[in-house]
Amino acid sequence: MQHQYDLSRHNSFAFPAICPAFYQPHSLSELDAILEELTSPFYILGAGSNTLFTEAKTTTILQPAFKGISVNEDGDSVLVSAQCGENWHALVSFCVDNQYYGIENLALIPGSVGAAPVQNIGAYGTELADVIEYVLWYEFESKSIKKLNRSACQFAYRDSIFKNQLAGKGLIVEVTIRLAKQWQANLTYRGLDELPGDVTAKDVFDKVIAIRRAKLPDPEILPNAGSFFKNPVVEKHTFEALKKRYPNIPAYPQENNKVKLAAGWLIEQSGLKGFRYGEVGVAETQALVLVNYASKHGQDIIHLAQYVQKQVLAKFEIFLQAEVRLLSSKGLIELTQPRQA
Ligand SMILES: Cc1cc2nc3c(=O)[nH]c(=O)nc-3n(C[C@H](O)[C@H](O)[C@H](O)COP(=O)(O)OP(=O)(O)OC[C@H]3O[C@@H](n4cnc5c(N)ncnc54)[C@H](O)[C@@H]3O)c2cc1C
Repeated sequence: MQHQYDLSRHNSFAFPAICPAFYQPHSLSELDAILEELTSPFYILGAGSNTLFTEAKTTTILQPAFKGISVNEDGDSVLVSAQCGENWHALVSFCVDNQYYGIENLALIPGSVGAAPVQNIGAYGTELADVIEYVLWYEFESKSIKKLNRSACQFAYRDSIFKNQLAGKGLIVEVTIRLAKQWQANLTYRGLDELPGDVTAKDVFDKVIAIRRAKLPDPEILPNAGSFFKNPVVEKHTFEALKKRYPNIPAYPQENNKVKLAAGWLIEQSGLKGFRYGEVGVAETQALVLVNYASKHGQDIIHLAQYVQKQVLAKFEIFLQAEVRLLSSKGLIELTQPRQA
């Protein structure tokens, strides 16, 4: 355990927050021992690529560093199990190299395996829920491991039981995915549809990486946490009213008469693409990404995010919700709704 530990290297916004104590268990027995001695509230941190430290201090941090990948053949498919401390992109790369198919579209998403189910990571027409077999969940209260299958995880768009009923009640230890041995490309998403019919999984993997590199700022060069806001899902009648005013509005029909809108488009149409707010700003290449040019204060991103919310609310009457988790010195917080401009 480390006291007064600087988390600059543990968040993709690169903010220099200090935590009172930093624990990094490598095994279940180490985790058990830490939980015995931990009395203060703590936050489970993966690689910090979906977390914003909103103050100069955070709560105590628990960063599980369990490592290992194992593979079990199961008929036409394979079950690949990865420990929570593995890197997600490295797992995708491992699967592509070994010809286990189904997650190549999820290449280059930063972060840990343990965080992947939390917001049901997704990109380029695939989401984790499509391949998940089960999650091993360490329950703090009973100090035991539970096996949660896909339906128990209650996956939805950027959502799962881990963000809701199970938040703060345990930790994802291991993730098992079922992948195909028979290659079948998923090229439905714009950008991938230009690939030829005889494309290999490695071609798709490389293409996804190339598109992402062209579109998204690299956090190593320009710190950010990917999409800052969730794409809003609205009622069909709300969408139809908007469509009359904005005939080009991008929309993705959902179940239950709902429609998903593109938050990046709403922000761009509000005139904010490339907008600078002091040392932070809205990315020039993708309006959904907020970037940290040189700020040392997470609050700057909060102020910018609230400004973006306010402008989008004023123009479209749609309230954008943060996708990124916001950690203060007292625990997780929400972005408050701004007053309409
Ligand atoms: C440049 C960039 C691009 C991105 N692109 C995408 C994208 O295309 N699609 C997408 O879905 N996301 C994307 N993201 C977001 C991010 O990559 C994912 O949310 C990723 O899963 C975060 O992993 P992490 O380990 O960094 O999570 P952290 O930020 O460390 O944690 C995220 C959440 O998971 C919880 N958590 C972490 N580990 C565990 C565990 N073992 N058990 C229980 N809870 C845990 C944390 O408490 C927190 O609530 C992007 C981010 C960046 C910086």
